[in-house]
Amino acid sequence: MTGVTVAAVTARTPAAAAGLARGDRIVAVNGHPLRDAIDFQFHAGDERLELAVERDGVTAVKRLRRRGSDLGLELAAPRPGDIATCANKCVFCFIHQLPKGMRRSLYVKDDDFRLSFLHGNYITLSDLDEASFERIIEQRLSPLYISVHATDPDLRHALLGRPRHSAEILPRLERLAKAGIRMHAQIVLCPGLNDGQHLERTVFELAPLHPQVATTAIVPVGLTRHRERLPVLRSLSPEEARALVATADLWQRRWRAELGSRFVFLADEIYLLAGLPLPAAAAYEGFPIAEDGIGLVRKFEDEFGRAVARRRRALPSDAVTVVTGEMFAPRLSALLAHARFDPATIRVAAVPNDFFGPAIGVAGLLTGRDIQRHLATQPDLGRAVLVPAVALRDVDGIFLDDLTAADLARDLGVPVKVVQATPGALLRAIRDP
Ligand code: SF4
Repeated sequence: MTGVTVAAVTARTPAAAAGLARGDRIVAVNGHPLRDAIDFQFHAGDERLELAVERDGVTAVKRLRRRGSDLGLELAAPRPGDIATCANKCVFCFIHQLPKGMRRSLYVKDDDFRLSFLHGNYITLSDLDEASFERIIEQRLSPLYISVHATDPDLRHALLGRPRHSAEILPRLERLAKAGIRMHAQIVLCPGLNDGQHLERTVFELAPLHPQVATTAIVPVGLTRHRERLPVLRSLSPEEARALVATADLWQRRWRAELGSRFVFLADEIYLLAGLPLPAAAAYEGFPIAEDGIGLVRKFEDEFGRAVARRRRALPSDAVTVVTGEMFAPRLSALLAHARFDPATIRVAAVPNDFFGPAIGVAGLLTGRDIQRHLATQPDLGRAVLVPAVALRDVDGIFLDDLTAADLARDLGVPVKVVQATPGALLRAIRDP
């Protein structure tokens, strides 16, 4: 099916004035047929727009005149069947480590350059066809987020699970770089496989592609307890994390002098695992890949300090419980203590991840049942429980295990509030849950 579906129309905007409505399907803009939302963005930049719109099987023309950048249109996300999926079997793939029986959308192995451009999803470029390459270049779909893992072709092929099609990554990156496409590279670090000399080779082969390859993120492999019939892998140890921080520090100094950028950035998890201080905010060079867990903790902690300094109203004296994962809980407790919040009033609940296993400590992978089970053991939850929004799918507002915040509130017998991962949102929620 071609065209894009309208998910929402804002009142008193050009889209509303033209009579567009939720559920309409826009099939062409100024005579250009649409394949997806990217085509819409590409062709809808003119001041005067003529949209071919299907509604109830009838196609009509709607005319819009732009007033500024916002047309007042929200387009629907692609349906699972419209998403390009990968043919890889990466040895570390998180989806292969999910237990059976979860909802189907969680098993979609997307490897779609459009989602990389629109939402920052990482793609492998393994079986990207010529037409897609040409489209990326023609429509300047930049930046893209690329899972590199290793530049050695044999090693990368092995890491990707030896798929039938797996073109070499460096020539593909070089082609996109020459065409002016900006990219963010990622390496999922699997100790014993792509670390040590392999990692060094990878980052030193990527560095000459800077600034088109703008950053390289190194993130540790995440291993769940559901690794059945999968290659044997192990997690990064604290000693390895410390050695990696020291090595990355040397690389960053070198590239800062040579390239004007640190170029390689380590995931927050690596510093936390190493028990070492996080770099200062300036070392993240504007936080371009915070969504990948690179600098998120530093950003949160610095903003928390500023938000506390701005706080005018005193906090209520009755308690609230703030839910987070085991990895961030000690940092959050320390932040609150530093800001002189009473730990009896703001209680940090470090929820163990029983569902995925002890190696998974991030808040974003907590399930509703793990939160429910852990909080049920607490003597008193106070006047409300604050859960991190990252643990819920924003499309449907449910936890990974299909529980909702309302289910949790009913089970626990206290109001449950979903809170965005910003200090301002957290402080507001503590004040007025
Ligand atoms: S590219 Fe690899 S990690 Fe990503 S979905 Fe496919 S198999 Fe999983």
